[in-house]
Amino acid sequence: MKTVKVSIVTPDGPVYESDVEMVSTKAQSGELGILPGHIPMVAPLEIGAVRLKKEGHIDYVAVTGGFLEVRPEQVTILAQAAEPASQIDIERAKEAKQRAEKNLQAQQDNIDFQRAELALKRAMNRIEVGQHSR
Ligand code: ATP
Repeated sequence: MKTVKVSIVTPDGPVYESDVEMVSTKAQSGELGILPGHIPMVAPLEIGAVRLKKEGHIDYVAVTGGFLEVRPEQVTILAQAAEPASQIDIERAKEAKQRAEKNLQAQQDNIDFQRAELALKRAMNRIEVGQHSR
């Protein structure tokens, strides 16, 4: 089976490196599925899950924004934060979700509202991806 090398990198260093059969993720333009040999491209990513198909299973990584760079033999994701499912602290994410929901309900200015909305998205993404911990 053909594979493509994938690196997911954050400012703290690499969080995932592997040869995989397919990468699926959520770009700002919509869902993307990348197979080995894909034409080069760069795309901004949403807060979402990266799914990496490999030897009959799927690895899940929660990614907070950033960019996807595709070359025929290498896919690189540069993200502000990224956590493989097994490293997600679900309790922490649930607490972050509650804080964000409380901040969203409070009467606040627009910037605080947007900040809380993003915090809620990050928390929900981590809770969702954390369910796939193996
Ligand atoms: P919190 O309020 O819990 O800190 P946050 O969304 O503000 O959440 P970020 O600023 O996105 O957190 O991330 C800060 C650092 O903490 C990053 O290195 C990120 O990978 C890590 N991180 C955040 N939440 C979790 C979690 N639930 N489990 C594991 N690592 C996490």
